[in-house]
Amino acid sequence: MRSRVLGAGVSAFALLAAACSPAPNTSAVPVGSVGAPMPAEASELTSAPSSSASSAPSCDPTASLRPGGLPAAGQMPAGSTMAEIQARGRLIAGVDQNTYLMGFRNPFSGEIEGFDVAMAREIAEAIFGDPNKIQYKVLTSEDRVAALERGDVDLVVRTMTVTCERLEKINFSSVYYEAGQRVLVNRTSGISGVDGLGGKKVCATKGSTSLAAVANHPVKPVAVSVPDWTDCLVMLQQGQVDAISTDDTILAGLAAQDPYTEVVGARFTTEPYGVGIPKGNEDFVRFVNAVLNRMRGDGSWASAYQDWLNTLGPAPAPPAPRYRD
Ligand code: GLU
Repeated sequence: MRSRVLGAGVSAFALLAAACSPAPNTSAVPVGSVGAPMPAEASELTSAPSSSASSAPSCDPTASLRPGGLPAAGQMPAGSTMAEIQARGRLIAGVDQNTYLMGFRNPFSGEIEGFDVAMAREIAEAIFGDPNKIQYKVLTSEDRVAALERGDVDLVVRTMTVTCERLEKINFSSVYYEAGQRVLVNRTSGISGVDGLGGKKVCATKGSTSLAAVANHPVKPVAVSVPDWTDCLVMLQQGQVDAISTDDTILAGLAAQDPYTEVVGARFTTEPYGVGIPKGNEDFVRFVNAVLNRMRGDGSWASAYQDWLNTLGPAPAPPAPRYRD
């Protein structure tokens, strides 16, 4: 805060000085030569991040813990993780605020909305009987696992693929959506899918499975990492990257914000989404799985799809849950 105030004072002084001094004798800079700024922390990858396949023991990350019965809202069993959340008075949910359709801040209302957020609201409803009893914490792709490990959040619902590598550090619910990685390009690019990305700059967020899939792809794209998906869109628009590659859900939201872009090529990965939950809170995993099961059966999953994802095509059946116990 202190330095911001100081900063404002300094720049006001600089403006004043500029206004009082005679016009500097500089030659005009042609506008075309002014480089567009890069998003903060954008960087070209020099070595590929590990893919989950190469660094974690094999497992079936889509198999979660069998749900128990669903207690009545407002009556969470004594001693449970849910009772602690109930006593606190709000569910703390890690979400995104930059991914239109999945987790984004509605500029008109200021509210955070989207398909992932709809999942979090259903879980709050099941605990409190009120979907609004949520505190959102905005997380980047990279923040998600660490936020759960630190216990900063009760859960993460943020386009998060269940992987064996992540499962070593956190728990996952059953799969609530099946996405897949594709490619977004400018309509005039001539690129028609991932195979056209050899030697091209391709943007994805740090800490995402998408970045690893780009960096490890046999056609050898040049992976560029940024904090948020919207940073990738800005870089594409400024001509600093040739493509963005991530889940079709996220790309649909980016394409909807820029009619000069299009999603191309087939899915080249499968990205099953789970709700991330801290290790140890197995009771909460079972509770969330019971909520997801109810949503699969009572039409609320389909209506969340309808509200947010119908640009991806007619609603598929919700993913069938799988359990390991
Ligand atoms: N689903 C991918 C992941 O969990 C990419 C999405 C993201 O990072 O937001 O890493």
